[in-house]
Amino acid sequence: MRDGVLVALDTPTLVIHGGAGVEPGDLTPQEEDDARKAMETALRVGYAKLQGGSSSVDAVTAAITVMEDAPQFNAGRGAVFTHDGRNELDTSIMDGSSGMAGAAAGLHRVKNPITLARAIMEKSKHVMMVGDGAEIFAKEQGITLVDPAYFRTEKRWKALQDALKEEAKAQASNTPLVLPGKAYFGTVGALALDAKGNLAAGTSTGGMTNKRYGRVGDSPIIGAGTWADPGCAVSSTGWGEFYIR
Ligand code: ASP
Repeated sequence: MRDGVLVALDTPTLVIHGGAGVEPGDLTPQEEDDARKAMETALRVGYAKLQGGSSSVDAVTAAITVMEDAPQFNAGRGAVFTHDGRNELDTSIMDGSSGMAGAAAGLHRVKNPITLARAIMEKSKHVMMVGDGAEIFAKEQGITLVDPAYFRTEKRWKALQDALKEEAKAQASNTPLVLPGKAYFGTVGALALDAKGNLAAGTSTGGMTNKRYGRVGDSPIIGAGTWADPGCAVSSTGWGEFYIR
């Protein structure tokens, strides 16, 4: 792994990330332990797929699903909040062997967004769907939808309240708003190389705390948040606007 890029590895291989931006001291020992355990489970579940002969797309989907279910990450269950107090999820997946890709943005009810990205790639004529339309398609595909309250965690709610205060302070003192400090990241991603030598990449996120309604980051943008081709697989994490630009 060099700069988030998978280079010349043996098959099969699975690489995951649990997001940028967490600094020493941001997590309690218990939180860090829980996050490490969830990542280990994600690696084991995804790698078992590869060992069983499944495709890199299967492994990426399985590993990301585990991390989406873990509240420690800013994806699925533990997604951060928007400015108006909602959770809006973005995701994408790409199959390096075929060049096919699927992406979804602005989701409020899809429990595992990566499964929807995959369904869009494999079961629709499209690459990207957003908001209500994406959720109608998810329902048609039998993908689990949940009440939006499922995504509410106290830690992320508090992070939004802190961000709103920070923003109000910056506005009052006319200081330009810089990247806020804590609990803004935690996007998840996975890259896999299967036994046939095919690469895949996937990314899933709640975006950035205090993002404005409708903001779409890099994670669902093929070529910015996610990329896979026959020779390379990439999943980004960090301030999405910079990746897109
Ligand atoms: N890249 C994500 C976004 O901008 C955030 C992250 O990686 O944590 O939506």
